[in-house]
Amino acid sequence: MVAKTEIHAQQQTLPGTERLMEPQAIFIRDDYRGSGKLENKVALITGADSGIGRSAAIHFAREGADVAVTYLSEEEDAQETKRLVEAEGRHCLLIGGDLRDAEFCRDAVAQVVETFGGLNVLVNNAGTQWVSEDLTTLEDVQWEQTFATNMHSMFYLTKAALPHLGEDDTIINTTSVNAYIGPDFLVDYTATKGAIVSFTRSLSNQVVGRGIRVNAIAPGPVWTPLQPATLGAHDPQMLEDFGADTPMGRAAQPCELGPCYVFLASLDSSFISGQTLHPNGGTVVNG
Ligand code: NAD
Ligand code: MG
Repeated sequence: MVAKTEIHAQQQTLPGTERLMEPQAIFIRDDYRGSGKLENKVALITGADSGIGRSAAIHFAREGADVAVTYLSEEEDAQETKRLVEAEGRHCLLIGGDLRDAEFCRDAVAQVVETFGGLNVLVNNAGTQWVSEDLTTLEDVQWEQTFATNMHSMFYLTKAALPHLGEDDTIINTTSVNAYIGPDFLVDYTATKGAIVSFTRSLSNQVVGRGIRVNAIAPGPVWTPLQPATLGAHDPQMLEDFGADTPMGRAAQPCELGPCYVFLASLDSSFISGQTLHPNGGTVVNG
């Protein structure tokens, strides 16, 4: 069992960094044993410098994959992810830049294919949020930027990646429990996450005939830099209750997410496509 994380009031600025997290996050359980589920696969994971993406990167490496990692500007966090992937005996390619830029997305996929000779798993995970409690004061530019980061980037990356994917390759999109419960202070973010669920379903139907599976993961509250940089920046006290409203009464550690990504990336989920996994502490969402 993963113990409840005691989170105190704290604040960061976006995009946030792991170094300032108190307490530090846990990315993989010491007793997690790899069994070659992703042997010699190549994965591209966006936003894997930190948080959920970093956990997925380390788990993929322990399962035998080489991993390319994109990050916005968190150089120090990205270098640490690279060190952790390499400690598992696999290669790690770091690609820094802004996923709102279609050209950068295309270039990122090209770099992965050039470096590793192919691509098998695309994890569209990078994302951002911003607390806004009143739609009438939500700036147009904020709305557009949230969609550009969370949704448009997925389109650009997936479009560039699909020609390289084939039989048994997979795409995994990170959505959120918020797509299902609709918190009143994250309307733009929640709308992007709903779009990601529908994107996943429709894209799955389009490519499943080629043997490519497309699924989503809808995490509940997870202890990552995104939270002190957004909820904490809005009101540091919001973090003290982070996760308390889940049936398990706590937030997850990133190490509780990585195995979900392994499952959907590997043949263990060979009959699953167009679906969403719900690692959310027990919240029943029926979707
Ligand atoms: P995180 O801050 O560790 O990771 C998000 C990453 O996205 C950052 O590391 C950053 O490099 C990247 N990113 C942000 N804007 C970018 C841009 N414009 N261009 C390129 N990269 C950019 O936080 P996390 O919680 O691990 O977030 C990962 C995903 O999980 C996000 O999509 C988030 O919405 C989702 N999620 C998180 C939670 C949670 O409670 N932490 C819950 C549900 C869903
Ligand atoms: Mg980060």
